[in-house]
Amino acid sequence: MAPNLFSISKRKNRSLREAITDNAWVTDIDLQHQSFSVTHFIELQKLWNAASRLQLRLGVPDTIRWKLTADSHYNTNSAYRAQFFGSTNTNFETIIWKPWAPPKCKFFSWLAIQDRIWTADRLQRRGWASNPNCALCEATQETGLHMFTACNYTRNVWAQLSAWTRCPAIDPECWTPHDALHDWWTALAGAQVANKKGLRSLIILVLWEVWKERNARVFQHQEQSIPRLVARIRDEATTWVAAGAMHLERFLDAARRS
Ligand SMILES: [Zn+2]
Repeated sequence: MAPNLFSISKRKNRSLREAITDNAWVTDIDLQHQSFSVTHFIELQKLWNAASRLQLRLGVPDTIRWKLTADSHYNTNSAYRAQFFGSTNTNFETIIWKPWAPPKCKFFSWLAIQDRIWTADRLQRRGWASNPNCALCEATQETGLHMFTACNYTRNVWAQLSAWTRCPAIDPECWTPHDALHDWWTALAGAQVANKKGLRSLIILVLWEVWKERNARVFQHQEQSIPRLVARIRDEATTWVAAGAMHLERFLDAARRS
Protein backbone atom coordinates (compact mmCIF):
# COMPACT_ATOMS: atom_id res chain seq x y z
CA MET A 1 0.00 0.00 0.00
CA ALA A 2 2.81 2.44 0.78
CA PRO A 3 6.12 1.10 -0.53
CA ASN A 4 7.79 4.53 -0.72
CA LEU A 5 6.89 5.41 2.85
CA PHE A 6 8.07 2.02 4.00
CA SER A 7 11.45 2.62 2.44
CA ILE A 8 11.99 5.81 4.46
CA SER A 9 10.56 4.45 7.72
CA LYS A 10 13.13 4.26 10.49
CA ARG A 11 11.41 1.32 12.23
CA LYS A 12 10.54 -1.36 9.73
CA ASN A 13 9.94 -4.28 12.07
CA ARG A 14 7.25 -3.00 14.40
CA SER A 15 4.17 -5.13 14.92
CA LEU A 16 0.94 -3.67 13.62
CA ARG A 17 -0.29 -3.06 17.18
CA GLU A 18 2.86 -1.18 18.16
CA ALA A 19 2.73 0.86 14.99
CA ILE A 20 -0.79 2.15 15.42
CA THR A 21 -0.62 2.76 19.18
CA ASP A 22 -0.44 6.55 19.48
CA ASN A 23 0.20 6.59 15.72
CA ALA A 24 3.79 5.59 16.32
CA TRP A 25 4.16 4.66 12.62
CA VAL A 26 3.97 8.39 11.71
CA THR A 27 6.86 9.37 13.93
CA ASP A 28 8.82 6.43 12.49
CA ILE A 29 8.81 8.08 9.07
CA ASP A 30 11.75 10.27 8.23
CA LEU A 31 9.82 13.30 6.98
CA GLN A 32 13.06 15.18 6.41
CA HIS A 33 14.26 12.46 4.04
CA GLN A 34 15.70 13.95 0.86
CA SER A 35 13.54 11.76 -1.36
CA PHE A 36 10.25 12.82 0.29
CA SER A 37 7.88 13.75 -2.53
CA VAL A 38 4.22 14.12 -3.48
CA THR A 39 4.05 10.33 -3.90
CA HIS A 40 5.07 9.91 -0.27
CA PHE A 41 2.47 12.42 0.76
CA ILE A 42 -0.31 10.60 -1.12
CA GLU A 43 0.76 7.32 0.47
CA LEU A 44 0.79 8.99 3.87
CA GLN A 45 -2.80 10.09 3.40
CA LYS A 46 -3.91 6.62 2.24
CA LEU A 47 -2.16 4.94 5.12
CA TRP A 48 -3.55 7.43 7.63
CA ASN A 49 -7.10 6.73 6.48
CA ALA A 50 -6.54 2.98 6.60
CA ALA A 51 -4.89 3.10 10.02
CA SER A 52 -7.66 5.22 11.51
CA ARG A 53 -10.23 2.60 10.43
CA LEU A 54 -8.38 -0.18 12.24
CA GLN A 55 -9.76 -1.42 15.51
CA LEU A 56 -7.39 -3.77 17.19
CA ARG A 57 -8.22 -6.31 19.79
CA LEU A 58 -5.65 -5.41 22.38
CA GLY A 59 -3.49 -8.22 23.64
CA VAL A 60 -3.91 -10.35 20.52
CA PRO A 61 -0.52 -10.82 18.85
CA ASP A 62 -0.09 -10.34 15.09
CA THR A 63 -0.34 -13.47 13.01
CA ILE A 64 0.46 -14.28 9.41
CA ARG A 65 -2.44 -15.71 7.43
CA TRP A 66 -2.55 -17.35 4.00
CA LYS A 67 -5.05 -15.47 1.87
CA LEU A 68 -5.61 -18.12 -0.79
CA THR A 69 -7.54 -20.69 1.24
CA ALA A 70 -10.84 -20.36 3.10
CA ASP A 71 -9.34 -21.52 6.40
CA SER A 72 -6.25 -19.24 6.06
CA HIS A 73 -3.87 -22.19 6.22
CA TYR A 74 -1.23 -22.68 3.56
CA ASN A 75 -1.44 -25.67 1.27
CA THR A 76 0.59 -26.46 -1.84
CA ASN A 77 -2.51 -26.92 -3.97
CA SER A 78 -3.56 -23.28 -3.52
CA ALA A 79 0.02 -22.09 -4.06
CA TYR A 80 0.21 -24.09 -7.30
CA ARG A 81 -3.08 -22.63 -8.55
CA ALA A 82 -1.78 -19.14 -7.73
CA GLN A 83 0.83 -19.56 -10.49
CA PHE A 84 -1.98 -19.36 -13.04
CA PHE A 85 -3.73 -16.20 -11.81
CA GLY A 86 -4.31 -13.92 -14.77
CA SER A 87 -3.60 -16.58 -17.39
CA THR A 88 -6.10 -17.20 -20.19
CA ASN A 89 -7.37 -20.48 -21.56
CA THR A 90 -6.73 -21.28 -25.20
CA ASN A 91 -7.25 -24.37 -27.34
CA PHE A 92 -3.67 -24.20 -28.67
CA GLU A 93 -2.73 -27.27 -26.66
CA THR A 94 -5.39 -29.37 -28.41
CA ILE A 95 -5.11 -28.09 -31.94
CA ILE A 96 -1.42 -27.16 -32.21
CA TRP A 97 0.87 -28.59 -29.54
CA LYS A 98 -0.60 -32.10 -29.18
CA PRO A 99 -1.01 -33.19 -32.83
CA TRP A 100 2.07 -34.74 -34.46
CA ALA A 101 4.11 -32.17 -36.41
CA PRO A 102 7.74 -31.07 -36.48
CA PRO A 103 8.39 -28.41 -33.80
CA LYS A 104 9.15 -25.66 -36.35
CA CYS A 105 5.71 -26.23 -37.96
CA LYS A 106 3.99 -26.10 -34.56
CA PHE A 107 5.78 -22.90 -33.68
CA PHE A 108 4.80 -21.37 -37.01
CA SER A 109 1.18 -22.45 -36.39
CA TRP A 110 1.22 -20.90 -32.93
CA LEU A 111 2.30 -17.58 -34.44
CA ALA A 112 -0.10 -17.83 -37.39
CA ILE A 113 -3.19 -18.59 -35.31
CA GLN A 114 -2.54 -15.44 -33.29
CA ASP A 115 -2.05 -13.42 -36.47
CA ARG A 116 1.61 -12.89 -35.73
CA ILE A 117 3.27 -13.98 -38.95
CA TRP A 118 4.56 -11.24 -41.23
CA THR A 119 1.79 -11.04 -43.78
CA ALA A 120 1.44 -7.85 -45.87
CA ASP A 121 -1.29 -6.34 -43.65
CA ARG A 122 0.99 -6.52 -40.61
CA LEU A 123 4.01 -5.21 -42.50
CA GLN A 124 1.89 -2.26 -43.65
CA ARG A 125 0.69 -1.50 -40.13
CA ARG A 126 4.36 -1.24 -39.15
CA GLY A 127 5.06 1.02 -42.11
CA TRP A 128 7.39 -1.50 -43.76
CA ALA A 129 7.57 -1.52 -47.53
CA SER A 130 6.05 -4.62 -49.13
CA ASN A 131 3.69 -5.66 -51.89
CA PRO A 132 0.25 -5.40 -50.24
CA ASN A 133 -1.30 -8.06 -52.50
CA CYS A 134 -1.58 -11.75 -51.78
CA ALA A 135 1.41 -13.45 -53.40
CA LEU A 136 -0.73 -16.48 -54.26
CA CYS A 137 -3.62 -14.86 -56.13
CA GLU A 138 -2.52 -11.22 -56.59
CA ALA A 139 -6.21 -10.36 -56.28
CA THR A 140 -6.61 -8.91 -52.83
CA GLN A 141 -4.73 -7.73 -49.76
CA GLU A 142 -2.68 -10.40 -48.03
CA THR A 143 -3.83 -11.33 -44.53
CA GLY A 144 -3.42 -14.62 -42.69
CA LEU A 145 -7.16 -15.27 -42.85
CA HIS A 146 -7.24 -14.63 -46.60
CA MET A 147 -4.11 -16.59 -47.44
CA PHE A 148 -5.05 -19.75 -45.54
CA THR A 149 -8.84 -19.87 -45.92
CA ALA A 150 -10.19 -17.52 -48.58
CA CYS A 151 -7.53 -17.32 -51.29
CA ASN A 152 -8.54 -19.09 -54.51
CA TYR A 153 -5.14 -20.75 -54.72
CA THR A 154 -5.35 -22.20 -51.21
CA ARG A 155 -9.03 -23.16 -51.54
CA ASN A 156 -8.13 -25.14 -54.64
CA VAL A 157 -5.37 -26.89 -52.71
CA TRP A 158 -7.82 -27.76 -49.93
CA ALA A 159 -10.43 -28.96 -52.46
CA GLN A 160 -7.93 -31.30 -54.15
CA LEU A 161 -6.78 -32.61 -50.78
CA SER A 162 -10.42 -33.21 -49.89
CA ALA A 163 -10.82 -35.31 -53.04
CA TRP A 164 -7.59 -37.20 -52.29
CA THR A 165 -8.49 -37.98 -48.67
CA ARG A 166 -12.22 -38.30 -49.43
CA CYS A 167 -12.79 -36.08 -46.44
CA PRO A 168 -15.57 -33.56 -47.16
CA ALA A 169 -14.77 -31.55 -44.00
CA ILE A 170 -11.66 -30.05 -45.59
CA ASP A 171 -13.47 -29.04 -48.78
CA PRO A 172 -13.86 -25.23 -48.64
CA GLU A 173 -17.38 -25.64 -50.04
CA CYS A 174 -18.33 -26.98 -46.59
CA TRP A 175 -16.86 -24.05 -44.65
CA THR A 176 -18.73 -21.09 -43.26
CA PRO A 177 -16.97 -17.70 -43.41
CA HIS A 178 -15.03 -16.62 -40.32
CA ASP A 179 -13.70 -13.26 -39.15
CA ALA A 180 -10.51 -14.63 -37.61
CA LEU A 181 -8.09 -17.41 -38.49
CA HIS A 182 -8.41 -18.75 -34.95
CA ASP A 183 -12.18 -19.26 -35.43
CA TRP A 184 -11.73 -21.01 -38.77
CA TRP A 185 -8.99 -23.22 -37.34
CA THR A 186 -11.06 -24.14 -34.27
CA ALA A 187 -14.08 -25.04 -36.41
CA LEU A 188 -12.07 -27.17 -38.84
CA ALA A 189 -10.05 -28.91 -36.10
CA GLY A 190 -13.34 -29.86 -34.43
CA ALA A 191 -14.94 -31.27 -37.59
CA GLN A 192 -16.57 -34.70 -37.34
CA VAL A 193 -13.96 -36.96 -38.92
CA ALA A 194 -12.64 -40.45 -38.26
CA ASN A 195 -9.43 -39.18 -36.64
CA LYS A 196 -9.39 -35.61 -35.35
CA LYS A 197 -5.75 -35.70 -34.25
CA GLY A 198 -4.75 -36.74 -37.75
CA LEU A 199 -6.82 -33.95 -39.26
CA ARG A 200 -5.12 -31.45 -36.90
CA SER A 201 -1.70 -32.60 -38.13
CA LEU A 202 -2.87 -32.18 -41.73
CA ILE A 203 -4.07 -28.60 -41.06
CA ILE A 204 -0.63 -27.70 -39.69
CA LEU A 205 1.04 -29.35 -42.70
CA VAL A 206 -1.11 -27.57 -45.28
CA LEU A 207 -0.71 -24.14 -43.68
CA TRP A 208 3.04 -24.66 -43.38
CA GLU A 209 3.35 -25.60 -47.07
CA VAL A 210 1.13 -22.70 -48.18
CA TRP A 211 3.28 -20.30 -46.13
CA LYS A 212 6.45 -21.76 -47.68
CA GLU A 213 4.95 -21.36 -51.16
CA ARG A 214 4.10 -17.75 -50.36
CA ASN A 215 7.66 -17.11 -49.15
CA ALA A 216 9.18 -18.77 -52.23
CA ARG A 217 7.15 -16.36 -54.39
CA VAL A 218 8.02 -13.29 -52.33
CA PHE A 219 11.70 -13.96 -51.73
CA GLN A 220 12.86 -16.29 -54.54
CA HIS A 221 10.36 -15.37 -57.27
CA GLN A 222 9.58 -19.04 -57.76
CA GLU A 223 6.10 -20.42 -57.95
CA GLN A 224 4.48 -23.85 -58.01
CA SER A 225 1.18 -24.73 -59.63
CA ILE A 226 -1.69 -25.96 -57.46
CA PRO A 227 -1.28 -29.66 -58.52
CA ARG A 228 2.44 -29.48 -57.73
CA LEU A 229 1.85 -28.05 -54.28
CA VAL A 230 -0.80 -30.73 -53.62
CA ALA A 231 1.69 -33.41 -54.70
CA ARG A 232 4.25 -31.86 -52.36
CA ILE A 233 1.82 -31.93 -49.45
CA ARG A 234 1.01 -35.59 -50.18
CA ASP A 235 4.72 -36.45 -50.24
CA GLU A 236 5.31 -34.54 -47.06
CA ALA A 237 2.34 -36.29 -45.38
CA THR A 238 3.96 -39.64 -46.24
CA THR A 239 7.21 -38.43 -44.68
CA TRP A 240 5.41 -37.29 -41.52
CA VAL A 241 3.72 -40.71 -41.27
CA ALA A 242 7.09 -42.45 -41.68
CA ALA A 243 8.51 -40.19 -38.96
CA GLY A 244 5.77 -41.20 -36.50
CA ALA A 245 2.59 -39.27 -37.31
CA MET A 246 0.40 -42.23 -36.34
CA HIS A 247 -2.90 -40.34 -36.25
CA LEU A 248 -2.25 -38.70 -39.59
CA GLU A 249 -1.77 -42.19 -41.02
CA ARG A 250 -5.08 -43.35 -39.53
CA PHE A 251 -6.82 -40.22 -40.80
CA LEU A 252 -5.55 -40.83 -44.32
CA ASP A 253 -6.35 -44.57 -44.22
CA ALA A 254 -9.83 -44.12 -42.82
CA ALA A 255 -10.64 -41.43 -45.36
CA ARG A 256 -9.42 -43.57 -48.27
CA ARG A 257 -11.40 -46.61 -47.11
CA SER A 258 -14.73 -44.78 -46.75
ZN1 LIG B 1 -4.85 -14.79 -52.34
